[in-house]
Amino acid sequence: MARRRRIYEGKAKVLFEGPEPGTLVQYFKDDATAFNNKKTGVITGKGVLNNRISEYLMTRLAEIGVPTHFVRRLNMREQLVREVEIVPIEVVVRNVAAGSLSTRLGIPEGTPLPRSIVEYYLKSDELGDPLISEEHITAFGWAAPQDLDDILQLALRINDFLCGLFLGVGIRLVDFKLEFGRLYENDDMRIVLADEITPDNCRLWDIETNEKMDKDRFRRDLGKVAEAYQEVARRLGILPESGPRDMPGPKAMQ
Ligand code: UDP
Repeated sequence: MARRRRIYEGKAKVLFEGPEPGTLVQYFKDDATAFNNKKTGVITGKGVLNNRISEYLMTRLAEIGVPTHFVRRLNMREQLVREVEIVPIEVVVRNVAAGSLSTRLGIPEGTPLPRSIVEYYLKSDELGDPLISEEHITAFGWAAPQDLDDILQLALRINDFLCGLFLGVGIRLVDFKLEFGRLYENDDMRIVLADEITPDNCRLWDIETNEKMDKDRFRRDLGKVAEAYQEVARRLGILPESGPRDMPGPKAMQ
């Protein structure tokens, strides 16, 4: 197969030119980074699992009317997506205190929040992704007020839906990070969900034991990282018992 042109390489994914104009191929790597690249490592099999998990979650979200960039999974590590202009903001939705919220505000990890909280961070490795407010976003033009409104509504809908979906398989959705993009069609522009939804950018705790089933296992050296990602996929019903190696190419399995 002809090698495609590489458009962008991030920490966990590579974007290649897609087969048709307006499409990209998103390739999931096994590489892991944390603490703004200060910690790096490889989680064997992570890319295969994340490709499948993100496909599954984006497909379920599309079914309830959430617009996404996802088109279809191509193979074990690649998916076809629509090319979008990424809004340079990380949108974090939280249901339970953890991570930077706990550190910043002194709220113990695991404290349920009185309501879901949405936070915005500027996507900037140089600045270490600083926390920003809606005022910053609209004043500096990172997103128009209407775009930001769409982003907030979508983020809350995605949170409600994913909380229920994960609860159904015995997992608490503690928090997660989303990215959105502008999709241009003819003279129209709409905000769509982009990037990925995987244990790399969610905190997922077992409902009974509070065991962490996400990238915190890597960040905090808790071990059994790939196993945790695999368990998430298994509970979602998208992993054959014998493991990711047996995943049958692009055929949808449910
Ligand atoms: N997150 C992410 N990318 C980032 C920062 C955070 O995917 O660059 C996710 C993270 O996995 C968690 C949520 O966003 O699910 C909230 O992260 P937090 O602000 O607590 O930061 P952390 O403690 O991960 O540095």
